[in-house]
Amino acid sequence: MKRVRLLVFNAALGVLDYRVPEGMAIEYGSVVIAPLGPRQVLGIVWEPERLNAQDVPESKLRPLLEVLPVPPLPEQLRRLIEWTSDYYCASLSSVARMALGSMAALRGGGTTTEYRLTGVEPTRMTPQRAAALDALQGEQASIRELAELASVSEGVLRGMVGAGVLEPVTVDLDRPYPPARPDFAVPQLSEAQQAAADTFVAAVREHAFAPFLLDGVTGSGKTECYFEAVAEALRLGKQVLVLLPEIALTENFLRRFEQRFGVPPILWHSSLKSSERRRAWRAIVQGEAQVVVGARSALFLPYARLGLIVVDEAHEISFKQDDGVRYNARDVAVIRAKFERIPVVLASATPALESMQLAEAGVYRKIELPDRFGGAMLPDIEILDLRKEPPERGHWLAPRLVAEMKERLARGEQSLLFLNRRGYAPLTLCRHCGYRFQCPNCTAWLVEHRFSRRLACHHCGHEVPVPDACPECGTADCLVACGPGVERIADEVAEVLPEARTALVTSDTMNNPEAIGEFVAKAEAGAIDVIIGTQLVTKGYHFPELTLVGVVDADLGLEGGDLRAAERTYQQIAQVAGRAGRGEKPGEVLIQTRHPEAAVISALANGDRDAFYAAETESRRDAGAPPFGRWAAIIVSSEDQAEALSAARAIGGTAPNLPDMLVLGPAPAPLALLRGRHRFRLLINARRSAELQKTLREWLEPLEFPRGVRVNIDIDPYSFV
Ligand code: ADP
Ligand code: ZN
Repeated sequence: MKRVRLLVFNAALGVLDYRVPEGMAIEYGSVVIAPLGPRQVLGIVWEPERLNAQDVPESKLRPLLEVLPVPPLPEQLRRLIEWTSDYYCASLSSVARMALGSMAALRGGGTTTEYRLTGVEPTRMTPQRAAALDALQGEQASIRELAELASVSEGVLRGMVGAGVLEPVTVDLDRPYPPARPDFAVPQLSEAQQAAADTFVAAVREHAFAPFLLDGVTGSGKTECYFEAVAEALRLGKQVLVLLPEIALTENFLRRFEQRFGVPPILWHSSLKSSERRRAWRAIVQGEAQVVVGARSALFLPYARLGLIVVDEAHEISFKQDDGVRYNARDVAVIRAKFERIPVVLASATPALESMQLAEAGVYRKIELPDRFGGAMLPDIEILDLRKEPPERGHWLAPRLVAEMKERLARGEQSLLFLNRRGYAPLTLCRHCGYRFQCPNCTAWLVEHRFSRRLACHHCGHEVPVPDACPECGTADCLVACGPGVERIADEVAEVLPEARTALVTSDTMNNPEAIGEFVAKAEAGAIDVIIGTQLVTKGYHFPELTLVGVVDADLGLEGGDLRAAERTYQQIAQVAGRAGRGEKPGEVLIQTRHPEAAVISALANGDRDAFYAAETESRRDAGAPPFGRWAAIIVSSEDQAEALSAARAIGGTAPNLPDMLVLGPAPAPLALLRGRHRFRLLINARRSAELQKTLREWLEPLEFPRGVRVNIDIDPYSFV
């Protein structure tokens, strides 16, 4: 190649042409450094005919500076990047960025210095040194990362290095991972499990595109089944990607993986240490990382020999990214499998309606596991009508639920209470003047957190200490908490079951792997009687002594304008119910509700999943909602309200008038103020036949807005706030 076209990582420029200097070996996909004015940019060499750019005369081309010592991005990945950019109306460079690990990873191997405790006590002890000694037990990382971990300054740690309390360790950045062993501990599968596993194994051998929907009830052993496919990929020297919806679930997964394959898998998520990130990325591109487990960001990495993708808990909405590139990792995983010509398994006990529909249409092959493993029965689900059996004043748990919990406690069994609301109370007001605590940056009430004694916004993180007096009228001791959060439920449990050992499981308390590991170990050992948690406890866990699940407020999810609210509620409650009775003892579920007549609640009570999906399918069909029609959202925001409104109006005013597309809005978004930005939304409802993305591009591209205005497109949106 004499001249090349680059996809450069500079959103404003996008594509630039360069000359290849004599002797430089370049391929499509090579990652290179190029001059840009006085600076340098990172770029990927792309097929020129696939990127639009003005043809620059030969004589004007500047030479590339350097090729980075990493394998070129494979062709399938380049096609995936293009597809994603096109489908989600995102810039190519913003998508391609997700494929690259870090600048350090691109620079090559070598060594780095990390630090760890030596065991020597400092002769001079200060509070900071004591805190660092405590926080850094068993840790090894760079000074900067350790400082962050221990919440002390880097200076304090450097002082400790000088005093011999911390020591440097030279770490080989590219040291290999110990190999996973496909036959380390092969389980005895049930007949149904074996059939499912055989199908997956055959698909892995075939190395052809094959999308599967693994639809198995909670506790049916879906993981065991797809592990057999993972094992086969390992035997064939292929790489496997397993996507999990949240990091909180990985602890559990890591343990099971290690039990099955003898070593832990390779982790990929946003809070990896820089050296781990670099090592993992490099092993991935070299084809040496065998099994990578990660959150959605692991999807775009440049695997050299991908042989299988698994999306576990595939119905989870956290696979949809709501900022930056607004893609759905579940859907893009299927597209990636198509480009890579490999099987992809979407596993869930409560598949998304969209996935069910694709299975029905024959696009996905559905593999069912209708029974729990080992003869465990699905739990009994009962409705507790709060209108007929109200809790006591100022309480949230109905007497019957409390009685059942007492019984479990007496028998040494566990109960789980589920309420999807963090904090103590969702609203705090002044009893005297009615003042409500609201976030100054968002359209949201501040949520009281008793442990931290603060009022916090769950959207932007704004926090204030709980004041002694009302800021409006000045009355002291007049603040009242309205409604329950999990912390308040924990208080109530302490009151009605004072002898019970409880655990509060929310993203506030379980914010690191150690905390999660400790909770799981205690729960498994029977050292916890009552678990109180948010959606964090709904899936993944297997506690044999857990025999009662109480859903504190089943109506909570049905509020709000989410078009998938009923489906979400169904999934959440079915999943949390699935935690009960997984061992030998049968489980029972009590659902507290004020709307027992709601279709989703009665479907849950009757265990009639098919009826729920049928009813939901019909209402979606009537509304032209996914999967029958398509949605897209345009979100216009600015710090200046008038500016945002006028931009939104300009968009609304130029909306195309098409028979297969309906444009609604602009209207103020439900979260009209978010992180200090005023927001307006337009919603587009299109027929499946409509050329949605093309129309959007042609509509929005000619429009110009003031600098402070942001216009985001959300294709197949999940969040309607
Ligand atoms: P799911 O993901 O479908 O809810 P899991 O894969 O978590 O189910 O399996 C439920 C429990 O049953 C797990 O503790 C798992 O180890 C166990 N289990 C499932 N299948 C087998 C098997 N074939 N042999 C031994 N244990 C199994
Ligand atoms: Zn806020």
